[in-house]
Formats: sequence, C-alpha cells, structure tokens
Amino acid sequence: MMNKISRRKFIGKCVVYNASVILGTGWLLSCAKDSNGANYSSDLEYLPIQNGNPAIAFRREQCEECGDCIEACAEKQKVFGTYHASESNHVCIHCGTCIMACEEGALTEKYNWREVLNAIDNPSTIVIASISPSVRVGIGDYFGMDAGSFIVENMVGACRAVGFDYVLDTNFSADLTIMEEAAELQKRIQENVNIPQFTSCCPAWVKYVEIYYPSLLPYLSTAKSPVSMQGSMVKTYFAQKTGIDPLNIIHVAITPCAAKKYEITREDLETEDIKGTDMVITTNELAKLLKMRNIDLSAQTANFDSLMGNASGAGIIFGNTGGVMRAALRTAYFNITGMNPSENMLELQQVQGLTGIKEAQVTIGTLVLNVAVCYEMRNAQKLLEQMISGTCKYHFIEVMACKGGCVGGAGQPAGSSKIQKRISALNTADILASTRYCHENPEIKAIYNDFIGPVGGPNAKKYLHTTYNDKSNLL
Ligand code: SF4
Ligand code: SF4
Ligand code: SF4
Repeated sequence: MMNKISRRKFIGKCVVYNASVILGTGWLLSCAKDSNGANYSSDLEYLPIQNGNPAIAFRREQCEECGDCIEACAEKQKVFGTYHASESNHVCIHCGTCIMACEEGALTEKYNWREVLNAIDNPSTIVIASISPSVRVGIGDYFGMDAGSFIVENMVGACRAVGFDYVLDTNFSADLTIMEEAAELQKRIQENVNIPQFTSCCPAWVKYVEIYYPSLLPYLSTAKSPVSMQGSMVKTYFAQKTGIDPLNIIHVAITPCAAKKYEITREDLETEDIKGTDMVITTNELAKLLKMRNIDLSAQTANFDSLMGNASGAGIIFGNTGGVMRAALRTAYFNITGMNPSENMLELQQVQGLTGIKEAQVTIGTLVLNVAVCYEMRNAQKLLEQMISGTCKYHFIEVMACKGGCVGGAGQPAGSSKIQKRISALNTADILASTRYCHENPEIKAIYNDFIGPVGGPNAKKYLHTTYNDKSNLL
C-alpha cells in the first residue's frame, strides 16, 4: 500500500497527465493519459515486469506503487501505453530506464553474478571476461573513488584476482564495429541506398525499431554491437589463436547495460550455432562479485590480455552519446580521403553533451553529410517520424536508449549527476590514447590480416553482421 507521501506524489503525477479521477489504489483508464492525451491503457500502478524478462527484475514486495517507473517508460522511452498492459502482458525493450526511476530498489537488472562465480569456481571451464568502455568510469564509485574516476589497471587486476582466466577489452570490438560500420556507411552513400544509416549497437534501440517501425529496419546498420562482435571473435579467433576449445569457454560480458542481457538471447547473433557471449553482468554486479570475494579494487593491477585487449581512442568514446558517431566519421574520413581528419572532426563538439537531439554537418572530400545523435526513444521517435514523412535530412544517425549514452546505463551506479563526469573521463582517455583511430589499432590490423579478411567481406558478413526481425506482433 502507498503511504501518505507517495499517495500525494501519485496524485500529483496524475495531474500532469490531465487525469480526472483516482479510485482506491488503482489508475482508472480515464486517469491514465499523458500530456498529449494518449492512453496508457492500463490500470496498473507499477510496471508488470514478468519473470521471463531476461534483463529486468521486479520485486513486488518492495514496490511502493509510486508510478515513477510507468512515467519513465511512457514518457522517455515511449513504450508503456502503446499496448494493453496487464500482469500477464508487457512489452519491453529492456533499456532499464524504469530501474533508474525506481528509488525503492523494486526494479533492478536481472542478476547473473552468482552464475558467473559458479563458472569461475568450475575448474573445467575457461572463463573469459570482456569489459565495456563505460564500466571503467563507473566501478570506482563502489570503492570510495570520485565519480568518473577512470580505472583500467585496477579493474583488470580485480577481475584476475576474482578468477577470470582471461580479461579482454570490449573497446577492441568497438574498434571492430567502427571498421565495419564506417565501410557500410561509405557504401550506402556511394550507392545511395538506405540512407540515413542508423547505428545498431544499442539493443534496446534495435528492438524498438523492430517493434514499432519494422518498415525502417533496412536503415539500421547490419553491424553487430561491440559486445556481440566480441563474443563472435572470442569463440573463433581468440580460441583458435590460444588453442582453447570454444565449447570449453564461458564468455562473460561486463557492461553498463541491462539490455545486453536480452541481446545475448538473440539467436540471430550466433555464429554457426555457437553463442558468442554466455553471460552478462553489469558494473553493479561486478562490484557485488568483488565484494563477495573481498577483493579491494585499488590493491589490484594488471593489463588486458593481448589479441583483443588493445583499443584506440575511438573505441573508448563508444560509451558516450555522440561517441559512436565521432568514431565512425574518423574512419569514414580516412577511408574516403586517405587522410586522417582535422581536430574539429575528431572532437565534433556539436554532437557532444546532454541534449536529447544534436546535429552537425561535416565535409568529407566532396561529400557534405548531415548527421544526428540522440538518446531516449522519445527523441529517436521524432527522427523516425521524419523518415516516415519524408522530411529526414540526415545521412547518419546515432541512437542510444540511455541518457548520455552507455555511461548512463541502468547497470551503472545510480546518479544522473555523474554522467557528465564519466563522459569527460572517456573523452580525456581518447585524447591520451596511443592512437585515436580504430584503423591504426595494431590488433585490429592483425585480426583482419590473420582471420577476417577484407572489411565487409564474406567472413566479416559471417561473424560481424546480423539481421533483424519485424516484432510488431508483440503489440
Ligand atoms: S518506481 Fe519502483 S516503487 Fe515506484 S511503482 Fe515502480 S517499481 Fe514500484
Ligand atoms: S526496461 Fe525500458 S521498456 Fe522495459 S519496462 Fe523498463 S523502461 Fe519500459
Ligand atoms: S544506451 Fe548503452 S547502456 Fe543504454 S540500453 Fe543502449 S547499449 Fe545499453
């Protein structure tokens, strides 16, 4: 039951929604309207997250029925209210925005960290960790460090101390993603097909298009996300080079993201029926795991393993809103002109920062490209509607579900005031990186020379690209 304070808050929320009546503890259908008058089509006070949701967990006993989760889902991500919600019917893109809205801890990512510990404790498996860019600017929060502290050696050392057999850098596969995505963009522009190209590294965004705008799926880049590419390469290239049977590998992605727990369930991301990533844990779960084993983060130091442990500054900024765009344009510029771009394009200040939709115009050789960057589906929806109405002027669009990009993911320590500090930390690491271009990363050159072959070629298609499906039947 709601207490007096949360009841008042609840009523206030309904006023925002032009609501008229509240009875008992439920929202009447007449009450459930947003500021545009759209129906929320539910009399539930909380999100009906079901047990089968691979990414989000709901603890009913902790729920105060404040409705904040419903508001976040409906207003920011445009999901709740688009279908008839009931205890047995819930459409979800697994973004985790509701988790960030819930101050009671009733909503969290679905925890898998105990399964990871079990795998580590099993001596017959090789457990490999791959760590996403944003984890290194979030994990320090749990160990008394300042928000936005950039920690690599301590984080890798702690993962080794907990028992991972190898520790790899998902930034490596962010570089790989850009190699493929930049080449794809160039091809589409030259052939004038499926423009604009949308980024595809956020699984919540991909699922949103699959559900709500399936006719626009050809505009998504076919490049897998960095986590998915990393999985494919761990079970093939890395296994081959190290002589490990891929069937003996448990690959664990450590990410800032709830939606990656859903992404690894997608069969269309498997290669030759082998799942690239077996488990996903978040930054929050990594902290739980380290504390469970009494590992002091600051007391450990180590480096990533080689083969898939080196990344450019372009890979590092993948965690930031605008980072994928900036990284891709650096390599697209090189591919088209044969030269690296100027400082202005490296920074591309117009697409940085915490504004929902940002845009820029860039010149690459004789091409003039209009690009846009956005986060949250309420902003993406505006660009998708421009496409439907034929008024979209852009050539390349980056979309992320979370505010600020993955640094603001639902698997990160809470606190939106920390997002800008994390963004700044990743930007500084980009500037200090040994190279700021993925095409200059020696491990990227090696993997194309030794294993993949040409960028966009047959092996690249097989291992690094995917397909999408119309999921409008979920509505
Ligand atoms: S935000 Fe949390 S406490 Fe509030 S209704 Fe949702 S689940 Fe319950
Ligand atoms: S994860 Fe996202 S789509 Fe799913 S219920 Fe939460 S806010 Fe809504
Ligand atoms: S923006 Fe990043 S953290 Fe958020 S849902 Fe998408 S991939 Fe996950």
